[in-house]
Amino acid sequence: MRELGAHSKTSETVSKPLVLILMGPPGAGKGTQARMLEDRFGLIQLSTGDLLRGAVAAGTPAGLAASSVMQAGGLVSDEIVLAVLQDRLAEPDVAHGVILDGFPRTQGQAAALDGLLARSGLSVTAAISLEVEDEAMIARVAGRYTCAACGEGYHDDFKHPVKAGVCDKCGGTAFKRRADDTAETARARLEAYHAQTAPLIAHYGRHGVLETVDAMGDIASVGSALGAIVQRISA
Ligand code: ADP
Ligand code: ADP
Ligand code: ZN
Repeated sequence: MRELGAHSKTSETVSKPLVLILMGPPGAGKGTQARMLEDRFGLIQLSTGDLLRGAVAAGTPAGLAASSVMQAGGLVSDEIVLAVLQDRLAEPDVAHGVILDGFPRTQGQAAALDGLLARSGLSVTAAISLEVEDEAMIARVAGRYTCAACGEGYHDDFKHPVKAGVCDKCGGTAFKRRADDTAETARARLEAYHAQTAPLIAHYGRHGVLETVDAMGDIASVGSALGAIVQRISA
């Protein structure tokens, strides 16, 4: 994170390193939109959910501790989440700017992030809240699946591959669903969001970095709204 400060390399170059936070309940579209912003602005998506699932798959001590909590739809401890995130932030590719997807989710994580960034002379550029309705989120989560090879996200009703059974991004033909993407677990995750994460919206409001986006529209229109924000704040 210390090296976060170089310029983006893509066609739509951003002029300063960005630290973006994408907030929103499960199914809001954080992962989908983060991947689109990666492609467009050369930022790096850091998903604590993906990092934790990687730790679970690798059977690390952090993964073993996180697994049952994730399965139940609760929040993993700040200590474990911060440990996996800090490991990832030590890698050099994050120097161009990051999109934090699913982090921070508690007041403790937000405070830890502020401290971590301050040590590198940085701060949160913008915390973007994807505003959605709870009931629609159950359907988004329950119909979600991803390409097993590249992680591109799809949905049974809202986003099909152009050619059935073949990933648009990489041509892969194997897809997977998350074990915690059931309607029941989605409800528990929504509760955790409202109890512990939604209060952070006010935290970033007080810091003057809050942006909100209506994320009930289709994927492309939400992407346009987000792209306009990133262009404005990086100008
Ligand atoms: P999150 O990372 O916030 O949990 P995802 O980006 O994984 O959410 O999106 C959840 C599911 O809903 C995915 O299957 C995705 O394809 C779909 N999706 C994302 N954004 C929208 C949208 N604006 N409208 C309809 N479906 C969407
Ligand atoms: P979604 O946004 O679709 O709910 P994520 O992939 O971001 O899913 O997170 C999946 C699960 O991983 C969460 O339900 C939680 O158990 C755990 N998790 C991810 N990020 C965090 C975090 N910042 N703090 C605590 N737990 C987390
Ligand atoms: Zn793929």
